[in-house]
Amino acid sequence: MNIEKNVLLRDYVSFKIGGPAEYFAKVNNSSELAEVLKWAKENNQSITILGGGTNMLISDKGLKGLVVKLNLNKLEFIGNKVTVGCGVPLALFLNEALAKNLTGLEFVAGVPGTVGGAIRGNAGTYGLAMGDVLKKIKYLDEDYQLREIDKDQANFIYRHSIFKEKKWIILEADIELASGDILAAKKLVEERLQYRNDTQPKQPSAGCIFKNVRFEDVDLEVLKNKNVEIDKFAKFKKIPAAYLIEKAGLKAYKMGNAQVSDIHANYIVNSGQATFDEVMMLISFVKQQVRDKYGVQLMEEVHILL
Ligand SMILES: Cc1cc2nc3c(=O)[nH]c(=O)nc-3n(C[C@H](O)[C@H](O)[C@H](O)COP(=O)(O)OP(=O)(O)OC[C@H]3O[C@@H](n4cnc5c(N)ncnc54)[C@H](O)[C@@H]3O)c2cc1C
Repeated sequence: MNIEKNVLLRDYVSFKIGGPAEYFAKVNNSSELAEVLKWAKENNQSITILGGGTNMLISDKGLKGLVVKLNLNKLEFIGNKVTVGCGVPLALFLNEALAKNLTGLEFVAGVPGTVGGAIRGNAGTYGLAMGDVLKKIKYLDEDYQLREIDKDQANFIYRHSIFKEKKWIILEADIELASGDILAAKKLVEERLQYRNDTQPKQPSAGCIFKNVRFEDVDLEVLKNKNVEIDKFAKFKKIPAAYLIEKAGLKAYKMGNAQVSDIHANYIVNSGQATFDEVMMLISFVKQQVRDKYGVQLMEEVHILL
């Protein structure tokens, strides 16, 4: 067991923002995980799990306690049934599935990060998300007891799961894929990767800062009266946060080195040495402007850790 002190977290996250972890451990299997959890319990230290670090905004003051970089990378295919460890990168998982002529994961094309982070946030694209393909999830509960949960009990809704409600550690998941039209699946993946490459900012970010706005959460008539083009978004029944932010005139808006992307307005990019406070102020400004103009309360998708 190797527990380091004062490890700079900005080196482990896509936003490139964040101070040091008081304690830091990389864990490659369940016995190493058991060891570091025992250490944390004995030393009364809190635990923060780090996956790919692509959905996190971490304070410049850093994090107290033990940050665990969880690299559980089991990837076992039996026919169309897969067991996948929480540390497996989504891109690797997708590529391995396609190589085995299995379809159903195309929706993760271009989504960075690991399976664990994707399950917690029910990550997805184009109306599909992790909760749609999962069968079962193995996890450690708050007392570090090993448990298993069916996907139906895991409260998967848009960018939400039970793992956001509880301090549980996701270990691995069972997923069932299909033997569909593999050529069509590969073509779709290529097209989506190309599209993302053309439409997403290249600077450091944590992806979309805000959740899109579900039709059921707002008064559509009021928004129509404010010239929000609701009909354009009927397919997924969500108003893109990017649309509202851009319509509020905030595309490319800057606070210090934190900037609303000029390519995709739901991204805040780190255009230099952006600080945590600059990003937080920009988030708060964007929310206030959108609220004032459209009466819509944007909610963060990114996990803010301080
Ligand atoms: C350029 C870019 C594009 C993106 N596009 C999309 C997109 O299209 N759709 C989308 O949904 N998301 C998108 N994201 C966000 C992000 O990629 C996903 O949310 C991803 O699933 C996060 O996984 P991660 O491993 O990086 O999680 P992390 O950032 O490491 O962690 C996120 C949260 O999950 C927790 N966590 C991580 N692993 C575990 C575990 N094993 N057990 C318990 N908790 C855990 C962490 O503590 C943290 O709270 C994008 C991000 C970037 C930077």
